[in-house]
Formats: sequence, C-alpha cells, structure tokens
Amino acid sequence: MLPSENKTSPLAASVSLLWGVGSERAAQLARLDIHTIEDLLLHRPRRYEDRRHFRTIAELTSDEAATARGTIVALGLKRFRGGNRSVFEIILDDGSAKLHCRWWNLPFMEKYFSSGDEVFVYGKLSGTKPLTMDHPETEVIEGGEESFIHINRIAPVYPLTEGLPQRWLRGFIWRTLGKFEAQIAEPESKCQVLSVRCQVPHAYQHDTPHVTRDTLSPARANAVRMIHFPEELTDVEIARRRLALDEFIALQREMQLRRKNFEAKSSSLSCRGDNRLMKPFLTQLGFKLTEAQTKVLREIRADMSGAHPMRRLLQGDVGSGKTVVAACTALMALESGYNVALMLPTEILAEQHFQNFQKWFGKLGIHVELQTGARKSKEQWTSHKTLVIGTHALIESGFEIPNLGLVIIDEQHRFGVTQREQLVRKGHYPHLLVMTATPIPRTLGLTLYGDLDVSVMDQMPGGRGKIKTFLRTAEKLPEVWKFIREKLAAGRQAYVVYPRVEDSGTSGLKAVKKEFENVKKLLAPFHVGLLHGRLKSREKDEVMSAFRANQIQTLVATTLVEVGLDVPNATVMLVENAERFGLAQLHQLRGRIGRGAHESYCILISDPKTEGAGRRLKVLEETVDGFRIAEADLKLRGPGELLGREQSGMPRFRFGNLAEDLDLIRQAREWVAQTPLVGTRKFQKPG
Ligand code: ADP
Ligand code: MG
Repeated sequence: MLPSENKTSPLAASVSLLWGVGSERAAQLARLDIHTIEDLLLHRPRRYEDRRHFRTIAELTSDEAATARGTIVALGLKRFRGGNRSVFEIILDDGSAKLHCRWWNLPFMEKYFSSGDEVFVYGKLSGTKPLTMDHPETEVIEGGEESFIHINRIAPVYPLTEGLPQRWLRGFIWRTLGKFEAQIAEPESKCQVLSVRCQVPHAYQHDTPHVTRDTLSPARANAVRMIHFPEELTDVEIARRRLALDEFIALQREMQLRRKNFEAKSSSLSCRGDNRLMKPFLTQLGFKLTEAQTKVLREIRADMSGAHPMRRLLQGDVGSGKTVVAACTALMALESGYNVALMLPTEILAEQHFQNFQKWFGKLGIHVELQTGARKSKEQWTSHKTLVIGTHALIESGFEIPNLGLVIIDEQHRFGVTQREQLVRKGHYPHLLVMTATPIPRTLGLTLYGDLDVSVMDQMPGGRGKIKTFLRTAEKLPEVWKFIREKLAAGRQAYVVYPRVEDSGTSGLKAVKKEFENVKKLLAPFHVGLLHGRLKSREKDEVMSAFRANQIQTLVATTLVEVGLDVPNATVMLVENAERFGLAQLHQLRGRIGRGAHESYCILISDPKTEGAGRRLKVLEETVDGFRIAEADLKLRGPGELLGREQSGMPRFRFGNLAEDLDLIRQAREWVAQTPLVGTRKFQKPG
C-alpha cells in the first residue's frame, strides 16, 4: 500500500542491492515485509526514545516506562536445578543507584553483554528492593563514527525480527535515507494541484524542497526523515499525517482509475423499465414507499438507464426497507428483458427472500428460483424472465445465468470484493447494486467504496413500535425471564442469543445447545426452537418456518440471526454475554425486533467484571442511530472487526488511521477528484 508512482523509481529496487545486506539480512528484512528500498524507508518506528534527557536510575518508577543509562557492574546466568529454567541478570550503575535487569529463560542473552558495557535500558520497574526490571528493552552503547545516530538524539525504536539488532537497523535506515532522500518524490497527483511552498522545520530542508498546499505539512521527503529521526517528538505526528495523506491519495487514485477503466470498457445495458410490472407490484404491496425509498429508486433508475452500468452501494440502517428497493430494482431489469441475480450471505436469508419474492413476483408472471448449497435448481432457464436468489452457490463455476442484466448483493459486508466480482462476471457488465445494513462510517465508506456511488436511506417506515434497550447484569435474569413470559403471553415472540454453539467448559460463555434445555423449562408451556450454524439446512428451514408461523414463540440462537431476518411479531431480543459482541453487531441483532407495530425490547446481559464493556454497551442504550454506533465501534475495535474479516478489500495502512483521519481522507479525495489522471498534464514547478 504505497504511493510509489513509478515502478522504475530507484526506490523500487530491492534492499538486497544495498551495501551490507547479504542473504541472511535480506531474509530477516523480508520477514518484516521490507523488500524494496521504499519499504525500508517507510518502516515505521514502533516508538521513540528521547536519548537527550534520561531519568537517573533512582528516578525510575513502576507506573511509567522510561529510559535510563548505566554501566554494567556485574552480570551472570543462573540455571535452576533439574530443568531448563534460568535467569540472566545484569546490574547497571549510573551513580544514582543500581538497577537489576532480569531475563527469564533466555540464556542466550548472556552473549550480548560484557562487564563495563554502557547500556540504554527502557521499561518500568517491577520491583524496588532492589530496583529491578524484568525483560527491559536494552541497547548497548557503542562508540565510533556512527554513535551519533543512536545517542544524544530522539532515537527510533523499530519492530524487529529474530536476529536483527535494533542498532543495525537504525544505522542502516540512516545511511539509506542519506543516500536516497533526494529521490523521494511527491505523489504526482499532488504535485499537479499544489503550489504553495511549505514551511518545513529548517533542518529538514534539503536542496530541492518539495511543495505542499498545506503549509503545516512537510514535503514527503522531509516527512520520511522526520518519521525516523525527528528533532522533537511533536514532529512525529506531523510526519505521520503527511505520510498518511499520501497513502489515502494513492488509494483514492487507484479507485478512480479502476472506475475509469471500468467505464471505458463497458457500455450499459439499458434497464430503464416501463413500469408494466412495477405498477401492479406497488399496488399489491400493502404499504406506500417511504420518501427515502422513492429517492433511492430515482437514483437507481437514472443509473440503470445511464451510459455505464450502475455500481451503487445502498446503505440503509436495519429495518429501513432495503428488500423492497431491491425488488423494485429487479423489476426494472426484468421489464427490460433481463434476468436478475440476488445473493445473500446465509441459507436462511436466501430462503426468506425466496418466499417473499415468490409471493410478490409469482403473480406478475416472473419466475423465481432458489440456488443454495442445499437446494440447487436443476431447472433449465426458460424464456421466462427469471430472478434467481441464492447464497455463495450462485458464484460456483458450473452455474450459468444467461442474459444477466442486474446483480444485487444484500448484506454486502459479509462478502469479499472478489466474490462480488465473481458474480458480476457471470454477465457482460451487468448493473450492480450492493446493499448493507452496517452503516459505514464516512472514513471507511470513502476509502473502501470509492469506486461505488453511494445512496443512503436515512428514514424508517412509519407505524413501527419503538425499541427500548436495557443493559443488565446476570443477577437480573429471573426478572428478565418473567418479563419475556409476559410478552409471550401477550402474543409476541422473542429471540435469545448466546455467543457459542457448544460449551467449551472454560470460556465462561454460554452456549446455545446447553441453554436451550434451560430456556425450554423457563418458558414452558411456550414453544422454544433452536437455531445455529451446525444444523442441517432442512432443520434450519423447519425451525425458521415454525418461528415465522408463530408455532415456536422463542428462538434460542447464535448470531446466525444477526442479519436480515424479518419476523415483525418478534419484539424481544435477549443477548447474553453481550460484551463479546461488537456494537455494530449488537445493533444488527437488535434490528431483528422493532419491525412491527408493537413496542420492542432489547435486553443486553453482561458481566460487570468485564471492565469497559459496560461503558461501551451504553452507546446502545443511548442511541438507535446506526451511524453513531458504527463510528463508536470503529474507534473502539478498528475496521477489521466492524466490517468482518471477510472484507478482503480492506487496505492496510502503515501510517493512515481509518478511525481518526477523516480530514485527511477528505483532502485526499478532493485532490484526486480535481486532478486528471496520470499523464494528462505535466507538473509545473511553482515559481
Ligand atoms: P432491511 O433494510 O433491514 O433489509 P427489510 O427490507 O427487511 O429491512 O424491511 C423491514 C420491514 O419493513 C419488512 O417487514 C418490510 O416489509 C417493511 N417495509 C419496508 N418498506 C416499508 C414501507 N415503506 N412501509 C411500511 N413497511 C415497510
Ligand atoms: Mg435486509
């Protein structure tokens, strides 16, 4: 993930060409993902040590890690009887006190130190009588020509790998930087639009100062130097932001390019539709579309009749009514004579949609098919217009969809980008609508979906009961069960969710299989069903149909029920071990209720001992705004957790922080939007 514009840049050369890098060093560097000179120059320090100001050993504390230096006055390795346990110890003296540094079971440490060595030591005290540090970070101070790289300055401390000394890497980066600094170019797209000379701390200036518009932002070459060898600790963040900006610019450009390429190659299948199916569909629907739904459908219709195939992401919070939008979009393509594919992440959901769409479309003379792992249609495609609904089974190689005009992917965050593309490739540039109920914070949306147009549905259909959310501890469970029985007696239904399928015995987490028996007793004579991923498809179908038909009043389940299910009579959601789930995930779970006219209740049980969990879960009590919840989740748990691990389109950044750098992402996007793609205009040096 580098803004390296130019594959022929000297920075793209292999590090193994540099002096001092033999095959062993090259292998070590490769383990750190350092292959090219550019990789090396962008190897980000893990922390910095201000080696101009030390604590004395006497000033070290046990609450805060700090750096001290001292001379080794004694050292030794002690092996314990009978085994391979050992402790290696050195004693440092700096005149203020003596410090015992100990390493347990690392006997080879012995070979790195000798009596009389001067040593930097970084860490917290683990004992005070005598002053002791266990497993501190250390670095022996050596004299010689290059010692200024390591002492009397702010020294970078890098992530390392076995066999690679900190000191060697620091010196190596210093020398490489000296040699290649002048070759570190501004990303092209930036040069083209920027014209104001930046203010760089004087010492970082070199012969050919680069330029940026943001006067607080150093040139890229300077930023690279600052990230390794800052003059002040505050320089580090300035440099990080500059390098992060370049990463965002590179990503935005790649997306812009992808989009341009796509548009150059593709011409659109006209799927404007003529309303001959849409009209009767909307009449029989039984409700009026919300304004938000109508607005989105207008955008979609414009796309479907445009010059290029639609590539649109529809974000709508849980329950906002995305399925109907999908149905209307499908009708536009069907009216225009094309077939449509709709992909969902689970069999249960595919089944639910299959039933809905059969009900809606059957009367209109549209053929609806189901294609899942369990149910593969053998039927030949006929001259009928067809909507095929399915799971991943749709992208299997043997499965053909002739005359495919539109692909719809629901709960898109559950699929990887490659799966999306695989389905699209079943047709010749069909239109694409992806839908998600995970409201994606702006930072992520702008980064991940830069190649898609985005529609947002920010309105719920009317006539819905409110959802109230309560945080409770396990002590309150008896009252909670009593409450659930009351709701069941009033004719409503409930979901009860546990984090695991089976009891592992040690995790302290409740498992559905075991709790199922318990819940059956607690709720008798009401009927209780069990649903989890290890059931056979047929069993899942049976349980779901029974729950839908209210033959079962309570569903004990894993997060399999997280997405998409729509049973409006279910108004209670109980989640145990709630601290185990992400906020966005709980919000999705909570979206299973509040779908009918009745008031709904979400009860989250969490252990008060899990520190911080309570505070985190409070967000859910406070708001039902999916965007706010997703932002909070992103800050707390990072993008991987929020989007699910399968989100393979997720770029990795060395410097960029998706949770914090919204302003930089915006800047990058603006710059890229204003800049014609590579090669269309020459960079002119500002006067
Ligand atoms: P989601 O956006 O979470 O996929 P669904 O499409 O499952 O939401 O819709 C949730 C419920 O709202 C469904 O029962 C659906 O029939 C209903 N619904 C959708 N649009 C409207 C509307 N305009 N008015 C009333 N109910 C609607
Ligand atoms: Mg849905």
